Amino acid sequence: MKRHLNYSDMVDICDEINEKHIPTEDAFYNKIDDLFEHTNLEGYELILHSFKELLKVVDFEINTIEKNVNISPSCEKGCAHCCYFPIITTKLEAKLMVGTINNMPDERKTQIVNHLKTYFTNHEDAINKLCSINFKEVKDFKLQYISKGLPCPLLNVETNECIAYEIRPLPCRTYLNYCNPVVCKKDFIPKEPFSYEFLRDYYIEALNELVQTIIYEDNDNYGIQYPDDLFQVDYLPMQLKNELFMNKAK
Ligand code: SF4
Ligand code: SF4
Repeated sequence: MKRHLNYSDMVDICDEINEKHIPTEDAFYNKIDDLFEHTNLEGYELILHSFKELLKVVDFEINTIEKNVNISPSCEKGCAHCCYFPIITTKLEAKLMVGTINNMPDERKTQIVNHLKTYFTNHEDAINKLCSINFKEVKDFKLQYISKGLPCPLLNVETNECIAYEIRPLPCRTYLNYCNPVVCKKDFIPKEPFSYEFLRDYYIEALNELVQTIIYEDNDNYGIQYPDDLFQVDYLPMQLKNELFMNKAK
């Protein structure tokens, strides 16, 4: 296998993946069954644990496809051009991210919250401006956003590392480069990276099933507005800001 693939290789591999290797939703639903049957956790703790487990299923499915087509990402720690992309999440995902951060050991939680406070103060104008671009209607919203150089709220711009890597949202997991990383440096929106966006529906449906079951069985919504939070999508900076400092997530 070549160290770095080129765009033409990626076109062939993309065809192969589409023809032979698109997974079903089974792994996501099997994970939910497994969580209900084999964990001692309950209620909100079970929701947070399951959220992380479903994210791991996304990683596992991507890894399986990579093995099937014999490719391995050229993405490395410290490479973060894609952390300037607009990341769109549901309100539920943002709530679960903040819930997980709130559950972290005090030192790490304080570190992340302080980082975010500084971020929101330092970038207030840019956040307000860029997060007001209507991503449902403006076709080139990605280019408009990324060209302004606003980092993701969870990026440590000194080390180029994600400060909440284990709960990074879906777009960060499903966007991978198998070509020379320099393509991401040269272009705001390079054509070479591959997106496993097709896993999103499985993940969202599984998350829906899980949260719905727990909320109904426990007769407690745990601070989640169900189903609205599942369908309200917005830019990650706005979602995190709202959940951290305005909605006082559980
Ligand atoms: S997608 Fe590109 S910018 Fe992002 S980590 Fe991979 S090589 Fe680096
Ligand atoms: S959540 Fe982490 S991986 Fe995703 S864009 Fe932000 S810093 Fe990068």
